[in-house]
Amino acid sequence: MLAVVKDKKGLGYTIKEVEIPRPKDDEVLIKIKAVGICGTDVPILKGIRDVPIPLIPGHEFAGDIVEVGSKVKDFKVGDRVTPAIVIGCGHCYFCRKGLETLCDNIIETGIHVDGAFAEYVTVPEKVVHRLPDNMTYEQGASIDPIASAYHPVKMASIGSEDIVVVFGPGPIGLYAIQIAKAEGAKKIISVGVKGDEDRLELAKKLGADETIISSEKLLEDISKFTHGRMADIVFEATGHPSVFEMALSSARKHGTVVMIGIFHEPATANIAQIVRREIQIKGSLCYTWQDYKECIDLVEAGKVRIEPMISHIFDLKDMDKALEVIDERKAIKIILHP
Ligand SMILES: [Zn+2]
Ligand SMILES: [Zn+2]
Repeated sequence: MLAVVKDKKGLGYTIKEVEIPRPKDDEVLIKIKAVGICGTDVPILKGIRDVPIPLIPGHEFAGDIVEVGSKVKDFKVGDRVTPAIVIGCGHCYFCRKGLETLCDNIIETGIHVDGAFAEYVTVPEKVVHRLPDNMTYEQGASIDPIASAYHPVKMASIGSEDIVVVFGPGPIGLYAIQIAKAEGAKKIISVGVKGDEDRLELAKKLGADETIISSEKLLEDISKFTHGRMADIVFEATGHPSVFEMALSSARKHGTVVMIGIFHEPATANIAQIVRREIQIKGSLCYTWQDYKECIDLVEAGKVRIEPMISHIFDLKDMDKALEVIDERKAIKIILHP
């Protein structure tokens, strides 16, 4: 089968023929129909994030089951499915508490074991979800980023009086806006930087009430949109260390800041305001099996729109072209067809 293989440290990867994987007893073999490129995949392919070598990355996908292991009970050949990324061990302290993203023995498809930038992939039955009949493979491949936005939004427990600020109009930020809207937020403010004009336009279409291009008067703008009180809930979805201080300052007294983006360098901020203004900071990593299930339901109910998010569709073999589009900041979500 054709696969994109991260086969060396540092920059670069190879698109080549490799063996089709065999499912273990508790696994299913999936023929991949659509796979999205995630913000996590780019640093892996570029060698910025360390992974075991060789590795086939890719974890946002949907496809058809074409073979099942001998102990698989709930799925059969022909089922249309989308698997969640996290493979928890099921028996550590955190798994038993329902916090499988914090599993002591975590395995993530496409990060620790071979993933979906290929024609076929194997995953354990326990992470697989069935696609509703009316859901496309492209929608199925989008449940992962939706769930990554759903987990933090759920964590923030948005109330009907809450004004929400979302830093970063990338896929996670844009899905967070849609979900915050569905959860009944009173007002949503989307914050981007110069060059994000199109994304902020899209943020408006998807439910943002106000958009801001970040400048030295950012806090003034947020103050204006919140009648001087500042935001009840702030989501940090840029992964950029310089945003941390702004995210704290954008929150009202006793407001909540949920960190979603992964910073690759330490951030500096005036920590005293966390105490003086009782800022509540939470971290959100990935999503649980339950979140994934609930996101499939949200999409089925039409509460989250996926089509406006998919900016490009390429063949898997055109990964180079896809990465160029990402580097030029022209992409929102790219879906590949193996
Ligand atoms: Zn992802
Ligand atoms: Zn575990």
